[in-house]
Amino acid sequence: MFDEQPPVSRYDEIAAALAAVRGRVDAACRAAGRDPADVVLLPVTKFFPAEDVRILYDLGCREFGESREPEASGKVARLRADAAVVDPIRWHMIGRLQRNKVKTVSRWAQVVHSLDSLRLADALDTAVGAARDAGERENSLDVLLQVSLDTDPARGGVPVDDVAVLAERVAASSNLVLRGVMAVPPLGSDVEVEFARLAEVHAGLLRDHPSATVVSAGMTGDLESAIRHGSTCVRVGTAILGRRPIVSQ
Ligand SMILES: *Cc1c(COP(=O)(O)O)cnc(C)c1O
Repeated sequence: MFDEQPPVSRYDEIAAALAAVRGRVDAACRAAGRDPADVVLLPVTKFFPAEDVRILYDLGCREFGESREPEASGKVARLRADAAVVDPIRWHMIGRLQRNKVKTVSRWAQVVHSLDSLRLADALDTAVGAARDAGERENSLDVLLQVSLDTDPARGGVPVDDVAVLAERVAASSNLVLRGVMAVPPLGSDVEVEFARLAEVHAGLLRDHPSATVVSAGMTGDLESAIRHGSTCVRVGTAILGRRPIVSQ
């Protein structure tokens, strides 16, 4: 009450957190002998308002990860309506994608990180084609195959043994472009082991699909390990924007 500091603005708070995370990414790259330019920092803005996305935009970010509908669609619309936002934004769908959300997601997502089944691939291909026909989007959709690093199907992800077949399906589609792999290590697992496995799966995929260069791996708690194992995209929410409310899923 007597020695209150002036309140830190949300802008300053996010700017400092973003700089700290960039510092972590750079240090992890240096430690791994990698070029920091080869690792994209993708801010994850789920649960946080459009105002925070706008602050990140003002700080130079042009790509964002979202995972929930209709929250994501609403935020995308807010940013599109913002006259001060002139540069194109690349929105990534990083969360579990239900088939009844495919249609709306195909209107705003430039990248989907969570493709994990043939049925979903077909549904996305159809939805992106329809969105293009309707003039709701111009380009094809970049997709990453979410790889299941454990055997729990509830968590999402394609089993390692099914990666090649799913990759072929995407390669043969009209509106999807195969860009790489993504994974979320199971809770309580040894992330070093999991990220090493993902790197192996990625190496196998690259042999048949040389353009599938992206490895989306690493979050607030484990980005250093992911970068050590070849991640090219770290998805960071908490360390940039703070804690989210706890919800299931
Ligand atoms: C929420 C989320 C993140 C961000 O996690 P943090 O631990 O907050 O950095 C990354 N990836 C996926 C798939 C997520 O759903």
